[in-house]
Amino acid sequence: MIYLDNASTTPCLESSAEIVKKKLVEGFYNPSAKYMPAFNSSKELDSARRKLIELLGGSPSSYSVVFTGSATEANNLVLNSSLSRHKPNMISVGEHASVYETAKAFREKGVNIIELPLTSSGVVDLDAFKKLMTKDVAFISVMLVSNETGAINDIKSIVSYAKKINPKVLVHVDAVQAFCKIPINIENLDVDYITLSSHKVEGPKGVGALVYKTKAKLEAQIFGGGQESGKRSGTENLPSIMGFINSATILSERLRVNFDKLTTFRNNFINKLSLKSSQIGLEFVVNGSGTDSQSPYILSCGFIGTKGEVLLHALASEEIYVGTGSACNSKHSGNRVLSAMGKTKDEVECNIRLSFMESSIGADIDELSTIIVGLAKKHNSRK
Ligand code: PLP
Repeated sequence: MIYLDNASTTPCLESSAEIVKKKLVEGFYNPSAKYMPAFNSSKELDSARRKLIELLGGSPSSYSVVFTGSATEANNLVLNSSLSRHKPNMISVGEHASVYETAKAFREKGVNIIELPLTSSGVVDLDAFKKLMTKDVAFISVMLVSNETGAINDIKSIVSYAKKINPKVLVHVDAVQAFCKIPINIENLDVDYITLSSHKVEGPKGVGALVYKTKAKLEAQIFGGGQESGKRSGTENLPSIMGFINSATILSERLRVNFDKLTTFRNNFINKLSLKSSQIGLEFVVNGSGTDSQSPYILSCGFIGTKGEVLLHALASEEIYVGTGSACNSKHSGNRVLSAMGKTKDEVECNIRLSFMESSIGADIDELSTIIVGLAKKHNSRK
């Protein structure tokens, strides 16, 4: 089996799974309870928050953390709390559905949501952004790394320009596909909110986090026992939070090495696919950005004339698992992000998404490319 759908989810590290199990069975105490073992759980929760802020290059004196059940929940929390009902807000057209659809629901209720366009490389068009940014814009949500293409947005330029025009603007960054994969320094980026997800970084499922400037507006959306400083009630999933922190710590330590290794791996993969395609008359396309603004963890590509979904199933029958990116959830078929990049219908339809982790590096790219290109040719509708 070859698993190349890591942007969708990753296997949990054994050491993190062990931590989760031990904590569930032995250290199961409710962090809110008032006896010694529970105080320890509460302390562990606090140190998990501090560690997460530290991994993002932030200081616990300036930032806080709300643990959630998923990044989807964290994105919903920040938009529901901080999106302005009266002033203009901005999101990029490339956002994950958990931001895009939430903003769309607000727009349908009359809230002003400005959509930032993408360039053909998949990043937010900075010139267009600068033209649209006014002192009235109250909230901006732009992802760091695209889950579709791996394109890396220039968040620093977006934030510094936005705050120059309106120093009070609140900026949210969905960093789910960036965390532990590309360097992030939350202080340097000067963002107000960052969303993370455990299961994308070899942590257990069921944990997300919203890291936010303590002074930034954040209003609870779930009420109850007042956990998470009153921002998200419900008994904390401490076992999985600890598993998440373990995985994030291990991956962060290897970030630089893995980034370089995966950059080489991805480039070699593209070269092989490209060469083998041209040898048999197939047109191979890559969607995304140049090397300096591209995550090496994601390869969005296709063979013109071979439907992505057909290729996905053909590969799955060989136990090679890839993704096709997220389909539009509207009545239209296709892919909102690739369409926004100006891709043709043929390019959109043929898209597949290969996404990697450190464990992918051992794959035999030559053999893999032969299989992929062979199946793409077999299912190609072009004569
Ligand atoms: N944001 C991005 C960029 C994602 O890629 C994903 C998942 O694919 C999410 C948010 C949602 O993450 P979760 O599965 O934790 O809700």
